[in-house]
Parts: sequence; structure tokens; C-alpha cells
Amino acid sequence: MKKMKLTTKIFLGLIIGILVGLLMQGTPDVAQTYIKPFGTLFINMIKMIIVPLVFSSLIVGAASIGDVKSLGRIGGKTVIYYLVTTAVAVSIGLFLGKVMNPGAGLTIPVGAEQAAKEAPSVVSTLLNIIPKNPLKGLVDGNILQVITFALFLGVGCTAVSEDKSKPFVNFFDSLAEIMYKITAFIMELAPYGIFALIVPVVSQYGIDVLKPLSMVILAVYIGCVLHAVLVYSTAVKIFANISPIKFFKGIAPAAITAFSTTSSSGTLPVTIKSTRENLGVSEKITSFVLPLGATINMDGTALYQGVCALFIAQVYGVELTLAQMATIILTATLGSIGTAGVPGGGFIMLTLVLQSVGLPLEGLVLIAGIDRILDMARTSVNVIGDASCAVVVASTENNLEPTSSEISSK
Ligand code: ASP
Repeated sequence: MKKMKLTTKIFLGLIIGILVGLLMQGTPDVAQTYIKPFGTLFINMIKMIIVPLVFSSLIVGAASIGDVKSLGRIGGKTVIYYLVTTAVAVSIGLFLGKVMNPGAGLTIPVGAEQAAKEAPSVVSTLLNIIPKNPLKGLVDGNILQVITFALFLGVGCTAVSEDKSKPFVNFFDSLAEIMYKITAFIMELAPYGIFALIVPVVSQYGIDVLKPLSMVILAVYIGCVLHAVLVYSTAVKIFANISPIKFFKGIAPAAITAFSTTSSSGTLPVTIKSTRENLGVSEKITSFVLPLGATINMDGTALYQGVCALFIAQVYGVELTLAQMATIILTATLGSIGTAGVPGGGFIMLTLVLQSVGLPLEGLVLIAGIDRILDMARTSVNVIGDASCAVVVASTENNLEPTSSEISSK
């Protein structure tokens, strides 16, 4: 209820902001001087939490998949499936963002300081993933380096005895929890932040800002359907010989719950039930693969980030190089590990994707007002993706059992 209210407030912030912006169309300077600073304050708050949030949640996440070793094959297969499908999802998002060109018709020039940034080459991007000085990476807010260092630390935790790793993991677990709380607090301020950010944009550019937003929604929804049909259908058919229709029918209760709650963690009980009863995946597999998936696997979110990154680049007139696209794929894929399966979790992580290629965070304001609509689709895909992994892993482990309807029809 509280979340619903916040979403409504954010939406209202956007609508009222647009109206006020239209009224102020003759006086964009006033909006720039007196209203925009409040929006900047909001953006700064989001920037403030990114590094500690990602760093702490990833350390804890990686430390908890630490039993990759002990869980051996199953863990390995699961993580590989999750990472590969997520990378495919961002690529589909980027592709649709490119061909559908949702940013067309709206141009907001980037500030001089943004435009001056040179795009790094592919090689240097790849080499830079490993920080020579991890503390510098943290201080500079170099997100890829922060992610890498956190992953090393998390995996390192699993290699030492529990009494040595526990205090360390506990500390970052507390930090992560606190950061989630601070995130929630900042999101409470979002309606006002969004208002303050959209007024100057509309007062300067008029009603033209609206059409591109409907194109973003369309691109994300088309992408979600494409990803589900192409990737999941193929995977369950090839690996488990389950017909796509049976798969989608079986997982539908979870997908619908995800669509309405926009939380994959909140949907987890339904996902487990549907996967076990309707798709015949054994408990051994669901109990490991699905909770892990709800935490680290976010295909829909990654796809959405691909579309949004391109959209924002188009609006701000930034031509993304191949190296930058590769960086987006890498950041969104690894970033999805650190994304909380809660409403709007992917929106916070979008800042990380934008930051990794130097796109202006101000672009977030354009997305914020429609984020809930996008969240519904992407969360469904996140959950369906978790289930498809459970089916694939179960089948390769000979852990698929006949479903209750199959038993009764025999
Ligand atoms: N709401 C999504 C989930 O729970 C995360 C996101 O915001 O993308 O899976």
C-alpha cells in the first residue's frame, strides 16, 4: 500500500511537473534558477548511495553464492545460465533501443563537461575492469572496478574459514541493509525530485518530451516478449524437451504475481510453487536455483537498462561507441547481481549503467515517471527467467519429475 502510494506520488510529481513546465514555457530561466537545484539535490543523493550500495550488496551476494564450490556443478550451471541469459537480454534491449530509436524527436544538449569526456577504447575498458588500486576505484566511483573488487572480496570470503569471514561479511551485510533503508528514504523524496527535474525540461522543450516516453514503454514490452519467446522457449525445449506452451502456462501464476507486485523476492513463494507443481522441478533444485535467481538474476531489468541507456544517449545527443555498448552489457549483467528484487530496484541500478559510460544521470527523470509500468514487465521476465533456469538445470541433473497433472492423466 505504501509502495503504491509512493508510485502514485511519483507519477503525480511527473504530471504536475509537466503541467507547471508547460505554464512556465515562456520563462525557462526561472525554472532553471529556482526549481532545478532541488532536482540536482535529488540526483546527488542518488549518486551518494551508489558506491556503498553496490559494494556492500555485491560482497554479501558473492559471499553467499560462495558455495558454488561445494554445490559444484549445480551452482556453476546456474550462475552461467543466469549470466549468459542476462547478457543476451541487455543486448536485445540495446538492439531495440537502436532500431526503435525512442529518443527521436527530443534533444537535450549535454553540458560542456559531459560532452568533453572521451570514450575509452574496448581494450582499455576491459583492462580497466581490474583496478590497480581498488580504493581509488571506490573513491572515483568507477563502477566496473567497484563490482570487480567486491566480487573478489566476496569469493575470497568463501575461501577462508567461517570464523575469519563472518565478521567481514556481517559488517557488509549491515551496511547493505542500511543502504537499502537509505535508498527507500531517498525514493520517498523522488516525487519532489522528479517534479523539480522535469519542470525545467518541459519549460524549455514543451510537450515534445511525451511521445518518446511511450516509445520507451513499447520498446521494453516488445523486448520482454522477444526475450521470453526466443531465449526461454528455446532453452526449455532444447535442454528439457518441454514445450514452450506448457512452460509459460506452468509459470503463469508467478509471472502474473510478479507483474502486479513488481518484486521478484516477493513473488518467490509463488515461483517455487509453480515451478515445482506445474513444471515438475524437484525441491533440491528449486530451493537453490530460485532464491538465488530472485537475488541475482534479472533479465528483464537488464533489458530495460539497455533500452533506457540508449534512449537517454539519444535524447542527450551522445553517440555510443561499441566499447561503450560492451561496457553497458558488462555493467548491466554484473550489476543485476547487486540489484534488489524489490519494486524499483532496477531503476537505482540504471544510474550505475549510465554512470559506467558517462551518460547524464539527469536522464533518469524522463524514465522515473513511467518506471512502474516498465517494472511490471521486467519483473515478470525476471521471474520467468529464474524458472527457466530451474527447469534447464533440473533436466540436465535428471531432477525433473512428472507433474501432478501428468500423474493423474496416466
Ligand atoms: N522489480 C524488479 C524485481 O523485483 C527489480 C527491478 O526494479 O528491476 O525483479
